[in-house]
Amino acid sequence: MAVATEREYGLFIAGEFAEPASGEVRDLVEPASGQPLARAAMGGAEDVDRAVEAARAALDGPWAKTPPNERSRLLHALADAIGANRKELAELESRNVGKAISSVKAEIALATEHYRFFASAIASIAGRSNPIGGSLLFYSLKEPVGVCAQIVPWNYPFMMTAWKVAPALGAGCTIVLKPDPQTPLTALRLAELAVEVGFPPGVVNVVPGDGPTTGSHLVTHPGVDKVAFTGSTKTGGEIMRLCSDPIKRLTLELGGKSPNLVFADADLADAIPSAAYSIYYSAGQSCEARSRLLVERSIYDDVVAQFADKAGAIKMGDPLDPETQMGSLISESHRDRVHGFVERGRDAGAEIVTGGEHGDGKGAFYKPTVLAQVESGMEVAQEEIFGPVVTIIPFEDEKDAARIANDTKYGLFATVWTGDPAKGHRLARQIKSGMVGINTPYTAFPGIPFGGYKQSGFGRELGLDTLELYLETKSVLVSTSARPYNPFGL
Ligand code: NAD
Repeated sequence: MAVATEREYGLFIAGEFAEPASGEVRDLVEPASGQPLARAAMGGAEDVDRAVEAARAALDGPWAKTPPNERSRLLHALADAIGANRKELAELESRNVGKAISSVKAEIALATEHYRFFASAIASIAGRSNPIGGSLLFYSLKEPVGVCAQIVPWNYPFMMTAWKVAPALGAGCTIVLKPDPQTPLTALRLAELAVEVGFPPGVVNVVPGDGPTTGSHLVTHPGVDKVAFTGSTKTGGEIMRLCSDPIKRLTLELGGKSPNLVFADADLADAIPSAAYSIYYSAGQSCEARSRLLVERSIYDDVVAQFADKAGAIKMGDPLDPETQMGSLISESHRDRVHGFVERGRDAGAEIVTGGEHGDGKGAFYKPTVLAQVESGMEVAQEEIFGPVVTIIPFEDEKDAARIANDTKYGLFATVWTGDPAKGHRLARQIKSGMVGINTPYTAFPGIPFGGYKQSGFGRELGLDTLELYLETKSVLVSTSARPYNPFGL
């Protein structure tokens, strides 16, 4: 298994595909069809050790001497290579995740822009010098944090990899990336492209494997300087604990239960289809899915009826069909988990207006689902279902809307629909989340900080601030005195 063939992938360590020490290779199936997709090697502790060693050697080797303008050129070259291979990458991702190819194509285009953004953002890396008086000169240096463990989930494998890899490489760090064992393929291909365009071997290493074993070994590895994690809030808590010994720098991008607030003065012709897009994109398997639709009571029944019509009109089917808007879920076991939430929601008093059942035929499909008559305290309004299920909750007025919007442990994203711009801005200040959209469903753009308040994590991705999370600041003090120093007068 020296190279990746169409159907068999090794680990990617020190610039090449490698056999796993354990010999473990798993069969991956397409969740939408149940058909075999590929075989992928899974790394264990020994492989993590090899990858960290390779990342450390690269950090201490030629990569340390690679100047910022060369790092920028390499990141642009990687973006070019992704662009040149976008069809192959899109098909691989779509088949692996079960996600509609139209969505995947948009994600790959965004990821490409993300590499370009950080290729340019490198120019902003700068220390400073400020006067401190006397005969002392001060300046600061920005240095890469070092070897970074980056752990990503299965819902946007290529884009989450881009969000992590681009700023780390921009800052001059080296990487051991651990994708989810179900979805390692496009990250492995990315690592291969990185070497093809000229990144030195060992700068980008990819070791797929299980979280509790391979992942936790990576997080606690003494050769790792920083951990950047995207995943569930529960796992994020565990990662935080693991990062305490030995102490690691840490950023966490975690779960969400984001609200979509629709006021009676909103343009419903915009708000309702956009709200449907905000939950059913990626079959609801998005951290920023607006899974709670909060609707002013005077228009509640009307919005529920119109929203259910839109949900019923979503084109669900073969992920590779360009007309498909919603593919399958990641696996049948995840679909059953989603269905469990819906059943418990119904038992607790929610009304299933549409959906609430598996798709017709084979594959891990679940119909776009609308739960109405939901109260904010119910499990379906509090827990991240991570599927195509919206909960519609009425509110009385602006104050009540803000109260319900803030009534979960999460704080990742919120969208407000109103015809009153001042009201939109007031709510943007009252809602405790890392990002707020006013009269637009869109969320993530290169350059705009993305991240959470509360249990949705800390640290930001996508923005200039993100580079700082991969840099150390070193302060240097210099004497410019003409006379010798003798502060104790000895
Ligand atoms: P998860 O937490 O189960 O797994 C995420 C990753 O962590 C996987 O690679 C997994 O193998 C690994 N992992 C699990 N246990 C580990 C451990 N003990 N040590 C080290 N690694 C471990 O999450 P998931 O179900 O794969 O992904 C969905 C979650 O990700 C949702 O909660 C979603 O909201 C969140 N998410 C957040 C963002 C964001 O930017 N905030 C983006 C995408 C997804």
